[in-house]
Amino acid sequence: MAAMYRGRFAPSPTGPLHAGSLVAALASWLDARAHGGAWLVRIEDVDTPRCIPGVDEIILQQLATCGLVSDEPVVWQSRRGALYQRALDRLIDTQRAYACGCSRKDIEAALVAQGLRRERHHAAVYPGTCRPEQGGLQGKPARAWRFAIHERGDVRWTDRRLGLQTQNVATEVGDFVLKRADGLWAYQLAVVVDDAAQGITHVVRGEDLADNTARQILLQRALGLPTPAYLHTPLVRGENGEKLSKQNGARALDLGDPLATLARAARVLGLPAAQVGTVHEALAHWAAHWAA
Ligand code: GLU
Repeated sequence: MAAMYRGRFAPSPTGPLHAGSLVAALASWLDARAHGGAWLVRIEDVDTPRCIPGVDEIILQQLATCGLVSDEPVVWQSRRGALYQRALDRLIDTQRAYACGCSRKDIEAALVAQGLRRERHHAAVYPGTCRPEQGGLQGKPARAWRFAIHERGDVRWTDRRLGLQTQNVATEVGDFVLKRADGLWAYQLAVVVDDAAQGITHVVRGEDLADNTARQILLQRALGLPTPAYLHTPLVRGENGEKLSKQNGARALDLGDPLATLARAARVLGLPAAQVGTVHEALAHWAAHWAA
């Protein structure tokens, strides 16, 4: 039923919104409106060293200038540690999480000793050194908490735009971190807990995040949580062909003319030009198109 739809936009306040993040924000808003659903904004500020103070408010202001306002009070992940701890405790109780005492160097040494050098986005696939069945910490102090992947086979899921996706999380990613050595919550755990706690039924976000979905599905299953529908939106590329990101210095949105800025985002989503005067009229026009 349409009224059951709950969507969200979940920016990390590591920099103001850029043209790429606006595409994801607009798509998630339009999808929620087209389904007669609710659209929520969640500030994903768990990685505190990378967050810039005040940028959360800038992002909310940028969204508001574009007519995108959360239907419910905005939540900040940095205030929700108790929820993440409860989920981690549950995973520990069910033997789906274990303490890891490995440093980066330990992990590399173990991989070399095994004659393996499986790398993924420059992060080594964790070789399972501290898994309970390997003997656990063996006297090392606990540093991080990792998810124990029990599923040996592929995780298959269907993206609403990209179609069938397959990933073998065990061999391609390995037991991933839930709580970091510096005590910070990992994105994977926080996002899964919050999507469920907020009753999110549809996740619409940038394609650069598609690769995380299989991990999130495994966590949902281990925690007995539902899996939302996923739609990953096209990325915006800069002049050098690289995807726009805060890391490669994408310019903040030009909001002198919000309608023109929104129209550029709408074009990336394949939506027709809106021959209308205000941001709200344009949004309504695109929402009707999205629903059609
Ligand atoms: N906070 C993440 C980011 O800004 C998005 C997470 C998500 O939508 O699942 O990249």
